[in-house]
Amino acid sequence: MKPFAPAEICKIREDFPILQRKVHGDRDLVYLDNAATSQKPLCVIEALNHYYRQTNANVHRGMHALAEEATADYEAARAKVANFLGATDPKGVIFTRGTTESINLVAQCWGQQLQAGDEILISVMEHHSNIVPWQLIAQRTGATVKAIPLTSSGELDLEAFETLLNPKTKMLSLTQISNALGTVNPVKEMIAKAKANGTTVLIDGAQSAPHLPINLSELGCDFYACSAHKMCGPTGIGALIASPELLNAMPPWQGGGEMIDQVTIESSTWADLPYKFEAGTPNIGDAIAWASAIDYIQTLGMARIEATVQEVVNDAASRLEQEPGVRLTAHPTERGGAVSFWLDEIHPHDVAQLVDQSGVAIRAGHVCCQPLMKHLGHPALNRASYHFYNTQEETTRLLEAIRIARKIFGVA
Ligand code: PLP
Repeated sequence: MKPFAPAEICKIREDFPILQRKVHGDRDLVYLDNAATSQKPLCVIEALNHYYRQTNANVHRGMHALAEEATADYEAARAKVANFLGATDPKGVIFTRGTTESINLVAQCWGQQLQAGDEILISVMEHHSNIVPWQLIAQRTGATVKAIPLTSSGELDLEAFETLLNPKTKMLSLTQISNALGTVNPVKEMIAKAKANGTTVLIDGAQSAPHLPINLSELGCDFYACSAHKMCGPTGIGALIASPELLNAMPPWQGGGEMIDQVTIESSTWADLPYKFEAGTPNIGDAIAWASAIDYIQTLGMARIEATVQEVVNDAASRLEQEPGVRLTAHPTERGGAVSFWLDEIHPHDVAQLVDQSGVAIRAGHVCCQPLMKHLGHPALNRASYHFYNTQEETTRLLEAIRIARKIFGVA
């Protein structure tokens, strides 16, 4: 698939009001922190505005025009998420606050059946939100958390994976794309191996849903978690996607309104899916605005988004690699939107602050991956993360800013 041409990207950038702003006085903003959160096109901002100006009402309860409209738009958003990710049944789409909440839901509800001796397999490159929820349920049940190690190029060690996968492995929970290294993991093959072993699989799609065409019917995982805010949608909304059979077999998560069928003082029965897992008033406006983000990226086309991001990030990786004093943290065969690096003799926090003075927003720190930092032998890294609206000229601005930082530190 052909990446967007520079003129097309220029046009796309006009849809994002924030990309027109300046920082630190007169510096054009270069936003390379998309793995943390992406920017929002005007249609998403307007969808949110329209919802609160015209539709705002609680869903599934009121018998008036606004409540009916809000319910129809909220349920249409659910159907849109299901369709976008190739899920077979919208009833299997649970709206959550995002990837973190989705993984916690699975760990707490599905994980209740775990027993002493059972194993939960993750990897060393996981985000804390795909580590800590498993530790919490492991502590309660006596299960053990194990991690697939990495190769020197920053990829999953697939031989070690096959050795670690054994009859005790009840859950494999993996990120499809590393937020820290940019590595795209071969999850389809790994899911097939895990399923053949009788293991349930969760895929953390926080970084893949924004960058890759996803077809859950083909991928074959049991659970998929993602966040709207990384895919041009609003913060505070995301989803857990699973088969209705699996969700029906799980106990509910939080109790309250919406998730019940009958309540007495002694006991309660549960609502049908997906409401069984959506206690309380949901985040209606953000779900509706997320649907608008999906319309936007679907119109651009996920295959073209993938090709565009790969082109710009691969160019950035090779130019950063050639830059004196810069070392890449990983050399994966396939990259998502992120490239991370270290500058010799300058702490990543200083690098981020100095390049920010040139208007370039990058990330510094452990990027919520402390076990990965331990593996790399560094407490922190710098990360430039791209989306389809980023350009090669912006990488040039990053490289110029890096040169200034090195001069200031007297290492150029
Ligand atoms: N997993 C990965 C790979 C991520 O990159 C992130 C966020 O950066 C998360 C999980 C958590 O996402 P959220 O904070 O939207 O819940």
